[in-house]
Amino acid sequence: MTTTYDVIIIGSGPAGYTSGIYSIRAGLKTLILEGVSFGGQLMNTTDIENFPGFSKGINGFDLMMNMKSQCHELLTDISCMKEEDVINVEFNCVEQNNLHKVITNEEKYLSKTVIIATGATANKLSIPNGEKFWNKGISACAVCDGALPCFKNKPLMVVGGGDTACEEALFLSRFGSIVYMLIRGEKMRASFTMRKKVEENEKIKILYSTRLLDVNGDKVVTTALIQTLDNIYNIDVSGVFYAIGHTPNTKFLRGALDLDENGYILTSNTKTKIPGVFACGDVQDKIYRQAITAAGTGCMAALEAEKYIG
Ligand code: NDP
Repeated sequence: MTTTYDVIIIGSGPAGYTSGIYSIRAGLKTLILEGVSFGGQLMNTTDIENFPGFSKGINGFDLMMNMKSQCHELLTDISCMKEEDVINVEFNCVEQNNLHKVITNEEKYLSKTVIIATGATANKLSIPNGEKFWNKGISACAVCDGALPCFKNKPLMVVGGGDTACEEALFLSRFGSIVYMLIRGEKMRASFTMRKKVEENEKIKILYSTRLLDVNGDKVVTTALIQTLDNIYNIDVSGVFYAIGHTPNTKFLRGALDLDENGYILTSNTKTKIPGVFACGDVQDKIYRQAITAAGTGCMAALEAEKYIG
């Protein structure tokens, strides 16, 4: 553990790679700990049509490989990237001159600053055909996938009754022929305003006390098996969008930073409560959660780290 980095970036989605690009270009001694399965949520996404600069869309995997390559091309002899998972952190390590210690499954590293960009994982329903039809009709991001031609004028479904589910249903109502909202309980958890908006939208049909049991189809989803209080039946749908919450990837922090009630890292302009420790992307953003906003906050975090180092 001899090298002291200026910046250690934990994570490799759009936030992590963007902070890497800025940090390396600023001449900072940078280590990007990408994780064993690098690239984040977009690696499992199909076409991305709302990332600026790609008018014809870009495959999520290709976008992330481009970002990874861009970091690689910028690497200098003082910066590097490693596909290692972080398992623990010790901020302001007293026996190491108050540097921050980052521990992976292979090594321990020291740094003046740390940028956390570990993202969040969309919660999925455990249904028999769930994995088979993932990205073949099932998605966890209507804003990312909803406008794809395969969903145009087709019956669609959102599972969940929170603010995200309402936003997704409203968004999908612009494209689908009808949007079913499946709420497992008798009430919607969403805020009053959001609830009112979906209730007033003629294209959205809210089904209370209803659960999704499974999906079916040939190559893509064509039907959903649902259960109400007194019935089980199939309905035609071409798209099923999960909006049942996200789990921010913060386990490795083990209480080292303040989190909100949903587990997201609390930040102010990417700064956490610990000087020199920053967070960006979905691990600190429960509202926007877009590739472009993650990349934007990645840039902010790197600029803040540069300012902190002075
Ligand atoms: P929430 O945790 O608020 O809602 C999750 C929803 O999914 C609930 O309706 C819940 O049902 C349902 N659900 C959970 N597990 C299952 C399951 N296994 N089967 C069926 N349904 C399930 O998550 P959101 O992502 O909606 O919101 C997270 C936070 O972000 C909230 O604080 C929200 O207000 C905020 N937010 C704010 C926005 C804004 O201000 N514009 C936009 C989006 C989110 P149940 O109620 O029965 O538990």
